[in-house]
Amino acid sequence: ALVVGRRVRSRRKWKRVVGVLKELEESCETTVGRLKQVVDAMAVEMHAGLASEGGSKLKMLLTFVDNLPSGSEKGIFYALDLGGTNFRVLRVELGGQRSDLDPDVEQQPIPEQLMTGRSEDLFDFIASSLYQFVEKNDSVQSPITKLLGFTFSFPVKQTSISSGILIKWTKGFAIRDMVEKEVAGALQQALTRKGLNMRVSVLVNDTVGTLALGHYHDADTVAAVIIGTGTNACYWERTDAIIKCQGLLTTSGGMVVNMEWGNFWSSHLPRTSYDIELDAESPNPNDQGFEKMISGMYLGDIVRRVILRMSKESDVFGPVSSRLYSPFTLRTPLMAAMHEDDSPELTQVARILKDVLDIPDIPLKARKLVVKICDVVTRRAARLAAAGIIGILKKIGRDGSSGITGGRSRSDIKMRRTAVAVEGSLYTQYTMFREYLHEALNEILGEDIARHVVIIVTEDGSGTGAALLAASHSSENVNNIQ
Ligand code: BGC
Ligand code: MG
Repeated sequence: ALVVGRRVRSRRKWKRVVGVLKELEESCETTVGRLKQVVDAMAVEMHAGLASEGGSKLKMLLTFVDNLPSGSEKGIFYALDLGGTNFRVLRVELGGQRSDLDPDVEQQPIPEQLMTGRSEDLFDFIASSLYQFVEKNDSVQSPITKLLGFTFSFPVKQTSISSGILIKWTKGFAIRDMVEKEVAGALQQALTRKGLNMRVSVLVNDTVGTLALGHYHDADTVAAVIIGTGTNACYWERTDAIIKCQGLLTTSGGMVVNMEWGNFWSSHLPRTSYDIELDAESPNPNDQGFEKMISGMYLGDIVRRVILRMSKESDVFGPVSSRLYSPFTLRTPLMAAMHEDDSPELTQVARILKDVLDIPDIPLKARKLVVKICDVVTRRAARLAAAGIIGILKKIGRDGSSGITGGRSRSDIKMRRTAVAVEGSLYTQYTMFREYLHEALNEILGEDIARHVVIIVTEDGSGTGAALLAASHSSENVNNIQ
């Protein structure tokens, strides 16, 4: 009787866990109907953010990038890419003709203590790395000033193409003395301290660099999206649509706008109790709501929170592991590895649960449950990102919906080929994420329209694009074109 009693109890507990999963699935639901509401909300907020300063949670920041690289750029240019987990230095030689760019790139992780210390330490560290990199390739002593594109992947209020003020930090960075300070100037001073004859000639967001490289390879590219540690998008906008800057004139008639979509919010977003807790405990509560549902910094932590809840409410994960309580122990790459474990016994899942979360020996049934949690969280993220992309297309009339007139079927509509450049580890390294994103694009747009939307993957676009922009905005190259 004792044994039977225990079995009944354990079955009841399992039922409770299944209930938690069900609730998670329901609150993460992203039906096509709901995604279309997110698309509309994104387009509406874009309008609002362009209409007035502070008109929306979407900042819709000016970039002063009013031309995109065409292929005719010439010379040697450097770039420095700072903003996520790693930072990169790179050097590219442009021959005046579109070619497969093959930049020299060096990457290293940003020491964690530098992300939350003093700005001078961070910039001195960067300047030293850059110095060593230049030394390998060129003469550091050369009297000719080298031009540097600086990719800085945080919200910046630009005052020109080469200067701007940090609005706030995201993604766990917290260098207090930098907020509201001039970003390119801080780097320039460190370069000067180091005695490096180099000028920060453009300051760009990583999305803008990605758009530049995308456009260099494919002139139909109108927008760029990053889905990595953080998430964001930028796109090409007509200056007359940027109402908050009346009289803004550019020779091209357009300018790239950095949306800072990580801060997008809408009541249509499927929010769970886990999202609410994560936000409340984050260093930037009430900020970056969209980012916290989508990007690599957070997905693993949402999964951790679900496992913690299940572990508290049942014994399927054994006694509650103390590791489950510490934020960000489960990194998104490990979450992806569990999600994509295709071994019959889910040995990867077992290994990661044991090594990372200190949860040993759980039955296959519980391992399957973990895979399912990863699936629900990633699927929601990818589908929301897809809705965001279509929101941009809708704003610029490239979603195939304008021009629908009575009687004409969707397939009759002439839809221009439209390319979106995408970069970031979630998209490039996480197959399930990528597949869910593509699936949602098809579902929302319908296949006839989706056929005309091309996603192009750039590599090191955020950095290489900055070097390209340093080139296309350098006086020499502007003169070349004239
Ligand atoms: C930042 C953006 C950046 C994005 C992707 C976000 O947290 O606010 O400026 O583009 O991450 O790196
Ligand atoms: Mg990056």
